[in-house]
Amino acid sequence: MMEKLSELAVANQLASHLRRKHADAAYFTGLGLCVLDFKHISEQHDGLAYALETVAHEWVHSQHPRWDHRRVESWWKKEVAHRLSLLQAFARGLK
Ligand SMILES: [Zn+2]
Repeated sequence: MMEKLSELAVANQLASHLRRKHADAAYFTGLGLCVLDFKHISEQHDGLAYALETVAHEWVHSQHPRWDHRRVESWWKKEVAHRLSLLQAFARGLK
C-alpha cells in the first residue's frame, strides 16, 4: 500500500536528503527540477550570492544534461569563477 505524502512531507524528505549529503541544492535531470536548501545556504557568508551562484550552477546542469558534475565544475572554473566577484557585488547591492 502506497502512502500519500503531503507536500510538506516531501519537502522535509528532500531537505533531510540534501543535508545528509552535505549538499545545498540538487538538480533532477529527468524532471528538470532544481531544489535549493535556502535555510542551509543562508547560514553561509554571502548567502544570497551563494544561492544565485548555486542556481547558475544547476542551470548549467539543466542546459547540458549529458555533462557530469565534474565537467560542469571544470567548465565553471574556466569560464565563470573569475567573474563571481561581480555576482557578489550585485547581491550585496540587493540587501
Ligand atoms: Zn554540479
